[in-house]
Amino acid sequence: MAGNVTFTMIKPDATAAGHTGKIIDKIIESGFTIKAMKLTRLSKEEAGKFYEVHKERPFYGELVDYMTSGPIVAAILVKDNAVEDFRTLIGATDPQKAAEGTIRRMFATSIAANAVHGSDSDENALIEGAFYFSTREHA
Ligand code: GDP
Repeated sequence: MAGNVTFTMIKPDATAAGHTGKIIDKIIESGFTIKAMKLTRLSKEEAGKFYEVHKERPFYGELVDYMTSGPIVAAILVKDNAVEDFRTLIGATDPQKAAEGTIRRMFATSIAANAVHGSDSDENALIEGAFYFSTREHA
């Protein structure tokens, strides 16, 4: 059975453009409960570690530079079928291919600066949430 927890980041392009509030509204309107949330900024080391799975991809350096270019909002979200439903809500990686009404279609500017992150599995949701929050913060 699918889990009920996912993890998101509102990425630097979206926080810089003033979209944080609108994106949070859309997440809540879509039935997610916010279990933990923080405005923070990643160091190069932290961003490198978070995206370690992409280390061999050609855009890894660009991704780390971009993710450290400004503040991000990290959050743990709860809903039935959280991972899949949140991936549907954010849309395809490339905003030009994302469906109408999705967060990336509405707020992202490019495949790199694509407004939000959403975990791709229940396992990664727990790992990514633990990267930012202690157990006490989302008890
Ligand atoms: P996601 O699961 O939809 O976030 O997509 P991926 O796991 O494939 O990629 C992780 C993140 O890397 C994306 O959300 C983008 O921010 C970035 N990214 C993906 N493809 C590219 C690319 O071709 N160029 C650059 N610069 N960044 C990319």
